[in-house]
Amino acid sequence: MDVDRFFRDKDLEALTLKAYDNMGLEIRDVLAKSDLHERKGKIQHAFCLGIGRKYPYDVRVLANVQPDSYWMDTMLHEFGHAAYDKHINPRLPYLLRSIAHTCTTEAIALMMGSLADDPAWLSAVAGVPEADLREGREYLLWRDRADRLVFVRWALVMFHFERALYADPDREDLNKVWWDLVERLQLVRRPPGRDEPDWAAKIHVAVAPVYYHNYVLGHLTAVQLRRYLETYITQGPFFMSEVAGRYLLEAVFGPGARDDWRTTVIRATREALNPDYFVKSLH
Ligand SMILES: [Zn+2]
Repeated sequence: MDVDRFFRDKDLEALTLKAYDNMGLEIRDVLAKSDLHERKGKIQHAFCLGIGRKYPYDVRVLANVQPDSYWMDTMLHEFGHAAYDKHINPRLPYLLRSIAHTCTTEAIALMMGSLADDPAWLSAVAGVPEADLREGREYLLWRDRADRLVFVRWALVMFHFERALYADPDREDLNKVWWDLVERLQLVRRPPGRDEPDWAAKIHVAVAPVYYHNYVLGHLTAVQLRRYLETYITQGPFFMSEVAGRYLLEAVFGPGARDDWRTTVIRATREALNPDYFVKSLH
């Protein structure tokens, strides 16, 4: 099914703004400073960057937006990081004026990014007609579950590879280590006779090392947090609620790095990180 068609005639910047407006989270200042469109010679990835720790914070997003599902997810994701960064309590001591942990900001970003695949959000916020969603609803729900399952296996490849790399950076069989893991965990066969540093094509190995476990922890936390929000705070879709935005400000963003990630999860969801919610969400 072609999910990109939902966004082909849409303004993704405007939709991102609307998504955060619905939650009472102001991102206009970040949008105004961001570099969102592709041009020759520009880095092809997307990221959010907080510059310095002086208030008001200077937070910017870099992206290469196209009107498709991938970039809708990515815009919602990166502005999730941005909303977190810009709402950290400026009265905290300098060193605590930061996120609690990479996995907590990934949780927010992943929870927001997943809206691009959420039939309820597509209907209520992105304005996708009911008739288009009727045939796509099951597929979208299936795709979201499949994405997250497949992603965990891919994250395990990254985790085990980096662990082997840092245990012995000089070992000469890294190409083999990589493909052995890909075959074992992702069930993807290596091309016959291939012995090239394919692992080096993954940008995180070079510029964001030892990062991937944060995505997995982020996925687990995102499910637990969304469930908590919708059960106890909003009693309905969190993405249509300014109360959800205020809750995130108080329970996650504001306290910055005052507590570690485990305590942050408990503060936000009233219990320790519990993978059962993630497992149940895959059923
Ligand atoms: Zn992210």
